[in-house]
Amino acid sequence: YFDVSAPWLNRVLERQPRQILKAVDGIDLEIARGETFGLVGESGCGKSTVARLIVGLHGPTAGSIELEGRNIAGLSRKQMAPVRRRLQMIFQDPYASLNPRWRVRDIVAEPIRAFGLASDKAAVERRVGELLEQVRLNPRDGEKFPHEFSGGQRQRISIARALASNPEFLVCDEPTSALDVSVQAQILNLMRDLQRDLGLTYLFISHNLAVVYHISNRVGVMYLGKMVEQAPSRTLFTTPRHPYTRLLLDTIPDLDMTGRERTPVGGEVPNPINPPTGCSFHPRCPFANERCRVESPRALAMPGNATVACHGVEEGRVPEEPVLAAPA
Ligand code: SF4
Ligand code: MG
Repeated sequence: YFDVSAPWLNRVLERQPRQILKAVDGIDLEIARGETFGLVGESGCGKSTVARLIVGLHGPTAGSIELEGRNIAGLSRKQMAPVRRRLQMIFQDPYASLNPRWRVRDIVAEPIRAFGLASDKAAVERRVGELLEQVRLNPRDGEKFPHEFSGGQRQRISIARALASNPEFLVCDEPTSALDVSVQAQILNLMRDLQRDLGLTYLFISHNLAVVYHISNRVGVMYLGKMVEQAPSRTLFTTPRHPYTRLLLDTIPDLDMTGRERTPVGGEVPNPINPPTGCSFHPRCPFANERCRVESPRALAMPGNATVACHGVEEGRVPEEPVLAAPA
């Protein structure tokens, strides 16, 4: 049993000019092999920090990040190299992450060379051709430069490059957010097929609940650096428990992915530099009481393999009613 588990307990301090931001605090999540864990939340909630922590671009100031039971937080660059081969990342903006002066074949070949995964030049070329076919590009496209491709094709190139090191785990940070809805669906289908064919595990980060619903087995909802709810995807979308999850879902009429615009969540997201006391959602929560204003709620295990961090749910003050029906 392989499990990219991240029993986290991170107090990540990000230094900003004269300010300290606790970007992620006490996040605890576990991802099983072959699964997709979806991470949702409004921008600035710490989703990308979680992504960067997992692949080692940030080190946690406390807690651990475990891969098959081994803590990989705080490994040296050299110790991290073989781990990095197994954990790769896909970003939102494929153009920014592809070197515009390199031909696609060199972009895709770079990890193969860096990790010493092919014996000679011919083997590198064969592997690059194979990877381009895997993401449904023409191997001849390897001669071209990134600017000669559409946004969706460029994301295919980044996926090919991410796959070049034969990773087992892909951290995907808003991989389809910059794309048109129809292209989004193509990339999501490709990612699903690759997961099935290669046995990949995904952490899929998005502010788009419809996308997360469609691709994830399990979903975690973040608010201001904390995980407020975690549940199997269907449970989270049919019977959300945390008031913030409900608010998010209420504002999304688009779980069927028709491309309709979502209405923004009511109220401002507070400044993460100076989060509210107690439950940081309390200024926006219709169920907030005095306890909520002073005491930070801890994640409680709920029936159905879920967790929720909310005093109101714990005390039965938040009514249990399904909010919406999941699309077929
Ligand atoms: Fe609302 Fe209190 Fe629950 Fe926070 S802890 S979400 S304020 S009921
Ligand atoms: Mg982000």
